[in-house]
Order: sequence, then C-alpha cells, then structure tokens
Amino acid sequence: MSKVTAPAATAPSTQHNSVTIAIGAATGSLQHKQPVALWATPDMDAYAYEAAYDPTRISLADAEASVRAQLAEFGVQVAAFLNEDAPLTAAQRGPEWQALYGCNPECQLDHAGADGEPGWHATAPIETEHRSIDDNFTAAENAQVPLLGAQIAVDNEKSQAYGRRTRVWLHLGNTTGTLTPNQARQALTAIRGFVAEFEAVVALAEKIGAADFEGDPEIARLDREAEDRRIAAVSQGRR
Ligand SMILES: [Zn+2]
Repeated sequence: MSKVTAPAATAPSTQHNSVTIAIGAATGSLQHKQPVALWATPDMDAYAYEAAYDPTRISLADAEASVRAQLAEFGVQVAAFLNEDAPLTAAQRGPEWQALYGCNPECQLDHAGADGEPGWHATAPIETEHRSIDDNFTAAENAQVPLLGAQIAVDNEKSQAYGRRTRVWLHLGNTTGTLTPNQARQALTAIRGFVAEFEAVVALAEKIGAADFEGDPEIARLDREAEDRRIAAVSQGRR
C-alpha cells in the first residue's frame, strides 16, 4: 500500500475529520509506480483530499478502500468519494481488451458492460453544459440533452472486407450529423465564423430588447371580452 505523504503537514482540524475525496483514474503511471496517490488540496470548499489511482494496477473499489485505510491512520473519516473518472480508454484497459473487442486505443465504450459490442467504437462525447433549447420539445425533454455535443466513432467491423471508417458525430440538440474528419473540419470553420456574427446578433437583441414592456392586464381583459362578443355576434348572425 502506498504511503500518505501530505496529510501530516496539513493535519485536518476536528471540524474536518469527515471529508469528501475526489478520486480519478490516472492517465499514466503514478509516481514510484504506486497504485494509489493521495494528497491534501489547498481548496477546502469542495473536498479536502484528492486521490489518483492506476487502473492497470488497482480497481476503483480497492483504491477507495486504500484511501479510507490511509486516512483512518490520521483519525480522518471519509464521508464520500467524488468520482472524477472519464470512461477508461481502450489503451488504459490494455492490449488484451483492445484485441478482444477490436478497439482503437481511444475507444471509451464499455464493451463488457453497458455499451455492449455495437460493431463500432466511440469516444465519450464532449458536451456543452448548456442544455438543448429546441422549441419542439418540452423544457423537461430539453434538460436531458446538451445544446451541442461531439464524439468520434470508428466502424471497423469485418474491416478486411469493408474497411475502416472514422466519423465525427456532431450532436445539435436532438439532431445528429455524421461527418468525415474533413467535413467536421469544414463544420468547425463554419461554426467559428458563425460565433462572431452570433455575438453581434445577441448584442443587438439586447439593445432592442431593452425597450420591451409588459401589457396592461386590464386592457388585455377588455380586449378579450370584446373579441368574445364579436365572435358571439357572428355566430348569432349565422343561425
Ligand atoms: Zn471499442
């Protein structure tokens, strides 16, 4: 088991003796090839310690148990772990995994679990935090979908016969475009140009919108009543 180096110097005060730990898989080997590294964070707002583990040497569950044991020696209890892991890449899972599922090293699908073996491979999508804004969907539906997302998909099923194709999936709300890398580059250029012009549109809308105002509810009520009387009169005339 690796040794805690930092906590001795920053011994937690009694009000912090139950702490939250941010934990994530290291992308490469940790220092001294240790399976788990743990250090105190200067910013105590969100969590007191951060930990990294080497997924090729130890599981997340064992890494958490190791962190609990290390901090227990200092009389510190772990209240919760915040898992900061991005899905593992096929390269992180190792050559056996890559050979078994035919993954490119960047593939982040969990072929042995939730994602199954769909016959293609993909990176985890990057997404805007901002949610979708589609007028055709309810607010609750839009909350499930990012405004923008993108990921790389590689289709290499029976590649000796049908070849290998790398595509970028560009998600625009509920719509997805499948692009070649070259088409994705063209879309990126178009989006860059659009962003500058959209900036001008937003600035102008803010300026025009500053003169917006609410109507008078009393006048609105009289208007609706007049409209009802007019419709009633027309209906009467038709009988
Ligand atoms: Zn894969």
